[in-house]
Amino acid sequence: MPLPLEVPPIEDEVTLARYPFLPQSAPWIQKLTHKEGIDIDMLIDSDFMEDSRRRGRLRLIESIANEGGVDAMAMRDIHTPEGRLLEAISFTYARMVACACEQDIILSKWAQAEAERAERLLTADTATIEKVAMTYLSEVRKKDEALIGDGAVKGGVVWEIGMTDFIELVPGITGPRWRLANQELKRGWITLNEEVNYSSQAKLARLLRQRIKDKILNDARMKTENFNDELILRLSEATTMVVGLLQHKSDENLELTGAQVDDWPPCMKKAIAELDQGVNVNHFGRLFLASMASTIGLPPENCVEFFHNAPDFNSETTAYQVSHVYDREYTPAGCAKLKLNARCAVQPGEDRLCDQPWMDHPLKYLRAKQRSRIRYDEGEEKKNESADDNSESRDGS
Ligand code: SF4
Repeated sequence: MPLPLEVPPIEDEVTLARYPFLPQSAPWIQKLTHKEGIDIDMLIDSDFMEDSRRRGRLRLIESIANEGGVDAMAMRDIHTPEGRLLEAISFTYARMVACACEQDIILSKWAQAEAERAERLLTADTATIEKVAMTYLSEVRKKDEALIGDGAVKGGVVWEIGMTDFIELVPGITGPRWRLANQELKRGWITLNEEVNYSSQAKLARLLRQRIKDKILNDARMKTENFNDELILRLSEATTMVVGLLQHKSDENLELTGAQVDDWPPCMKKAIAELDQGVNVNHFGRLFLASMASTIGLPPENCVEFFHNAPDFNSETTAYQVSHVYDREYTPAGCAKLKLNARCAVQPGEDRLCDQPWMDHPLKYLRAKQRSRIRYDEGEEKKNESADDNSESRDGS
C-alpha cells in the first residue's frame, strides 16, 4: 500500500525537532539553516557547529553500539530555539556522516536506532502520534469509543489500522501477538487492543517504527547518490571513527557468537540448570539468561527451551517475552548486579576466573574462556601436526 499522498501539516517546531526525519520537518530544517546562515562548510568545519557535530556523532555511536537505539532522553531542551537547532542539525550531520561511510550496514543500523528512539517517544506522545501515524499509514483511526468494551481501556485510546498496512509491517516483528490469525479483524480494520503491559498506543508506535526505519533508510540511500569524493574526504575523520567502531563491534559479536557451552559463565549455567529442575528463577535471572542467549547469538527457539520446565511455562508467553528481549538487544547484567540479586553462582575460591580482580561481567568470563580454549586447540593441532610429521619421517626411513 503506498504511503498517504498528502501528509497532515505539522507547524509545531518542538514536534519537528523531536522527529527530524518527518517529511514535514525537511522544509522547516531548510528554513532554519537558511535563517542561521548554516551551509555545508559551516556544518563540517565551524566551531559554532561543534555541539551539533558532537551530538550527531553520539547519535551514530549509539546506533552502532546498539544498546536499544539513540537515547531519546539525551535531547537538549527542545523548548528553546538552541535546543531545537541542535536536534535538527545533529540529525542532519549524523545522516551525512552515515551516508559518507558508504556502507549500507551503517545506514541500516543508524535508521534502526533513530526509529527505535521514535518508537519510545511516540509511545508516550499522545499529542503527536495521530499526525505521525497519518503521515506513515494509509489507514489508521481511533476506535469508536462506543465500541470499546467495558474495562478494555481506562481513559486511553484504542487504535485501528487497515489490514493492508498491518500485513506489510508485521513480517519484521517477532512474537505471536503480531500474527494475523491472532488479530481482531472487522471489515478490513485491525484493532490494536490494550493489554496489561502493552497499550494500544505502544502497539501503534511499534508498527510505526517499521515504516519510519524504511523511510529514513530510503531517504539516506537517495542522498548518498549525491555525495562526491570531495565531501566524503572532508567527512573522513568522522567516518573513520564510525567504521572503526563497527569493525570493533563486529569482531566482538563474531567472537561471542562462536561461544561453546563450555565457555558459558557459571551464572548462566546455574540459571539454565535451575529452570531445568523446575526452580522458579526470579525475573532478574530470567532476563539475564535471555539477554545472554541473545548476545551470544543463540536462536530464540533455543532460549525458549531453557524455560520449558519452569513452573509457569507457557510457550506463547515465553516466546513473546524472549522475542522482546531479542528485539531490544538488552545488555546482560554485570557481576555486581547479579551478586546483588542472588544470581551469581560461585563463592570465592570456587572458580579461578570468577576470582580474578578484573572479573566484573559474565561476557568477560565467556571471552576469557574462549581465548584459552582457542589457544589450547591451536596447541593441540600443532602437537598433532608434529606427531604426524614424525611418524611420516619414521615410515619413510
Ligand atoms: S563472578 Fe560474575 S561471571 Fe562469575 S558466576 Fe558470578 S556473576 Fe557470573
